[in-house]
Amino acid sequence: MNKISIPNNINNLSQLLEDGLVMCDSFGSILLYNNLTKQYLGDNLKGKNICNFIPIEEFNNLDESYNNGAFNDQFSFQTSDILKRSLIIKVKKIEDNLFAILLLDMTSQRNLEKVRRDFVANVSHELRSPLTSLVGFIETLLNGNVKDEKTQKKFLNIMDEEAKRMNRLIDDILSLSKVETEEHITPNTSISIINPIQYVMSSIKERGLSKNHNLIFEDLRQNVNDPCFVIGDIDEINQVFVNLLENAIKYSFESSDVVVRIEQHNQEEVVISVINKGEGIPEKYLDRLTERFFRVDKARSRELGGTGLGLAIVKHILIKHRATMNISSEINDKTTFSITFPLTNN
Ligand code: ADP
Repeated sequence: MNKISIPNNINNLSQLLEDGLVMCDSFGSILLYNNLTKQYLGDNLKGKNICNFIPIEEFNNLDESYNNGAFNDQFSFQTSDILKRSLIIKVKKIEDNLFAILLLDMTSQRNLEKVRRDFVANVSHELRSPLTSLVGFIETLLNGNVKDEKTQKKFLNIMDEEAKRMNRLIDDILSLSKVETEEHITPNTSISIINPIQYVMSSIKERGLSKNHNLIFEDLRQNVNDPCFVIGDIDEINQVFVNLLENAIKYSFESSDVVVRIEQHNQEEVVISVINKGEGIPEKYLDRLTERFFRVDKARSRELGGTGLGLAIVKHILIKHRATMNISSEINDKTTFSITFPLTNN
């Protein structure tokens, strides 16, 4: 068979590709590979056999496999290194005794699919428990076994609670999906950040959510009359403070103070903290709080009417607003959610 020489410009071109490229002769001997391939298969590949790195039977004799139509389909392969990349492999015959093997990295797509699959599984699970409970009570009542009115009422109240839980969950799933898909769209209105804070605080007081809690507004800025404009969507900013304040109330000791504090250390940004005193969050969980359905104590969150999606929604709204959130917590003491918003001149 003729000795194959690959022109230099092919080598240069191959470096421009955003996928791995390996050129082989019919017996799988590697003639050329681009830089990206090094990340997938390692370096010093020239002259070695592709089967040593990608043990696919069809690569033993590329010509024969090509003639059998084996390369009409693509192959999947997982790298053996620590990253366990998922590669899709496509093979094309370029000319006699010359094959191009394209390595497409599908790892992030695979991870994304996994996140989606997990999310669907979680949603189904979360919906199933209230639904099972509802079906159980409906059957019991339909059987006519519960005669006394007091027990019937008790069952109906539980059913009402479960139906509301499903409703909350669906509302949160829809909110999350909306903010996630729109997180790259920067809002085009500027609003005073003080308004949503005060609006949410008074609506929480009106709803009587805070029971014996003391809701305190602390403005530590030098100029408290400054409106503090940020680029923002008012409904979404409201949602952030509703979620943070509802959590602060839910997870705090009875009759304790819940503080919303505003600070401004420079002209560029404003920091708003929601502080409560409660059991607190162990440090190892702090990074996970904004994951969908993550709850430190699942039973407690359920009992308090939580869906496990509140902070995930907050996270995506903040990304959209170029704002950042810092969480700190001491066991049986203060938990602080601090958000830094970039300021605008209006
Ligand atoms: P949930 O609906 O369960 O409240 P979130 O996404 O709003 O879901 O919060 C996730 C978890 O973070 C909660 O289940 C709780 O364990 C923890 N958490 C949130 N806010 C606080 C807080 N202020 N104090 C203590 N734990 C909190």
